[in-house]
Amino acid sequence: MSDRYAVIGNPIAHTRSPRIHHLFAQATGQDMRYTALESPTDGFADCLRTFQANGGRGVNVTVPFKLEAFACATRCSDRARLAGAANALKFEDDQVLADNFDGTGLLRDVLHNLKQPMSGRRVLILGAGGAARGMLLPFLEQRPHSLTIANLALPTAQALASEVASLGRVSACTYQDLDSPFDMVFNATSASLYGQLPPVTAQAFAPGALAYELVYGKGLTPFMQLAQDAGAGTLSDGLGMLVEQAAEAFAWWRGIRPDTPPVIQLLREELAKPQP
Ligand code: NDP
Repeated sequence: MSDRYAVIGNPIAHTRSPRIHHLFAQATGQDMRYTALESPTDGFADCLRTFQANGGRGVNVTVPFKLEAFACATRCSDRARLAGAANALKFEDDQVLADNFDGTGLLRDVLHNLKQPMSGRRVLILGAGGAARGMLLPFLEQRPHSLTIANLALPTAQALASEVASLGRVSACTYQDLDSPFDMVFNATSASLYGQLPPVTAQAFAPGALAYELVYGKGLTPFMQLAQDAGAGTLSDGLGMLVEQAAEAFAWWRGIRPDTPPVIQLLREELAKPQP
């Protein structure tokens, strides 16, 4: 029987993960089956146990269960611990191992696909939620010139910054405090899901800056439009991040890393088609 994997979330209908992992499995010759499971919001632990008891080998976890997934783990990576959240679990004997590949997936997209080194750059993260948490450790390992976290609620950004203060030059601020340009600006807020712009201004973008929108499949979001008008050199949505974090999980589970650019390209074409 094929090895079984799944993504668990709620809602889950629009997930692209089964498609991505199917393409990875095909390309690498892995005998595995990957499905989408919708768990009741108060039933994640049961859903996970049932899947494991039925022979599941690992899962991806998405909204709203990343914190609970972390709590269910018996062992975790440093980046999952710092994020306080897991987006991938692996079952090994009686152990549940947790990792969080959102930040490393995003970083791979930036370094390898967009070919934008982060070392020595002035980096701005907008938002201080789960995605932002997962970005801190991998970003700081790149030794940026500075890492600034801007958030509506300042105490949340300050708490994040203080957790990693020993790892680099990190600071927290409100949007009103942003008065100097950055080489890389990451929109890790959920504003674009609702067609909104976080209250960032054109001054935040240095000439030729990278503007990275974590949301994907929404076309030119207000954030990307602002960045384009401000003279950003590279605009990207979060599709590459999605595929790269999936590839990290796939490699962790299967011991083989799939080639990602053809999958990103294919998904981009599929997303551009009218959705049924
Ligand atoms: P969270 O709900 O944990 O955090 C949302 C953040 O957005 C908070 O900091 C919140 O600020 C801020 N926010 C919400 N609305 C606004 C607004 N109108 N203006 C400014 N700030 C706002 O979400 P996640 O961190 O999990 O996800 C963030 C985004 O990243 C989502 O859009 C998600 O789709 C995307 N994402 C993409 C992935 C990919 O693979 N491409 C993977 C993971 C996430 P406050 O705390 O002040 O309320």
